[in-house]
Amino acid sequence: MRCSRCNKTAVIYQPYSGLHLCEAHFCEHIERKVKKELRRQMVLKPGDRLVVALSGGKDSSALLYMLNKFFSVRTDLELVALAVDEGIRDYRHETLRNARAITSELDIELHIYSFYAEFGFTMDDIVSRGYEQAPCTFCGVLRRRVIERKARELGATKVITAHNLDDVVQTIMINYIRGDIERLRRLRPGHIAEFVPRIKPLRSIPEKEIAIYAHLAGIPLITAGCPYARLSLRFTVKRMLNEFEMRHPGTKYSVLRGYERLMELLPAVTEQKRLAVCERCGEPSASRICKVCEILELMRG
Ligand code: SF4
Repeated sequence: MRCSRCNKTAVIYQPYSGLHLCEAHFCEHIERKVKKELRRQMVLKPGDRLVVALSGGKDSSALLYMLNKFFSVRTDLELVALAVDEGIRDYRHETLRNARAITSELDIELHIYSFYAEFGFTMDDIVSRGYEQAPCTFCGVLRRRVIERKARELGATKVITAHNLDDVVQTIMINYIRGDIERLRRLRPGHIAEFVPRIKPLRSIPEKEIAIYAHLAGIPLITAGCPYARLSLRFTVKRMLNEFEMRHPGTKYSVLRGYERLMELLPAVTEQKRLAVCERCGEPSASRICKVCEILELMRG
């Protein structure tokens, strides 16, 4: 097939847009969308220290590669990478190896923090206790805490994460399924006063397209996946959304657009609330005792 914009061979067909794109036009298309999201979500200021949450997987590696490409001429900004080692056997060490390789190639500072050093246990330890909740429930809460706390310590003015369209739409669906309007509200790009602002520049790019971009950019693709992923509700929702997308191209974008419209229609719900502070650790929390402290107590028991 030929590229819809020039006569070169296409490397991708986008069923939702009807476009065939060659390598150059595809990369340009992805980078244009990422720049648009960056402009939409943040205003860069001289002296900004941008901390990128890097797992070493394709999404965060491609994101770091792009940010470095966009900002390497800006001597007034600093890009720093932060990785979290949750302690998951046969998985995380591989992506961290990739994280070390890409940061060393791009000459970007990398800081790695582990659940074990921060909390005294690993994700494997949590799973070995056989709790009813899916491992991701614990993992997400603890990882968010490490990223937030360490980003602050690193002097971050913004935290940039690699959530892609699939991740964002899965989260929207999960919260619809749970009827959790408060979490839906917090998903919107925008800033909760108590946290370092979080930016998601890949939120409008399908996961598959980031994988192709990463491949074209020469970023090694990791084949190992987290052994606990299948136990989560997200895994079921992901399969369901992929099935919908295959049968009805554009479904993921429709869910995202529908969510954005809905949030605009709900001013009372979307009004920014200030978070309280956890009685135990003093971190911002929606409840009296934060989720991290609840997990710590559970693990001590
Ligand atoms: Fe953690 Fe779940 Fe992701 Fe595995 S799949 S790294 S357990 S959030």
